[in-house]
Amino acid sequence: MADSGGFDPASVGESDAPPVEDRPYKVLFEANLCFGAGKCASASENWTLDLRSGVARPRTYFLTEADLESNLRAAEACPAKKGDGVIHVVDRRTGEELAPDPHGDGTVSVDW
Ligand code: SF4
Repeated sequence: MADSGGFDPASVGESDAPPVEDRPYKVLFEANLCFGAGKCASASENWTLDLRSGVARPRTYFLTEADLESNLRAAEACPAKKGDGVIHVVDRRTGEELAPDPHGDGTVSVDW
């Protein structure tokens, strides 16, 4: 489980979330660090580029099993943060980051 000085980023969005059984994964998105490269939108239909803001946006933050693979691709493809990425796919059951997982240990790698 991730730990950032008492704040657990894996808990973000859980207060009004759909049931874990229906949507076992979620996206954490560091929108402030997105620079609009658009690779996520090429990798996954869940991602679009907002033309007004120039920043990406997910259609949904909570993912089904069927949504998982393309969102993993989007997270891996994001070049922001020197390749560490700003799209984070988290398993809600374990709180572990599945992708991009730059630390290789499931730690949620957001810079909040
Ligand atoms: S790939 Fe990353 S930097 Fe590029 S638009 Fe998507 S989220 Fe933003």
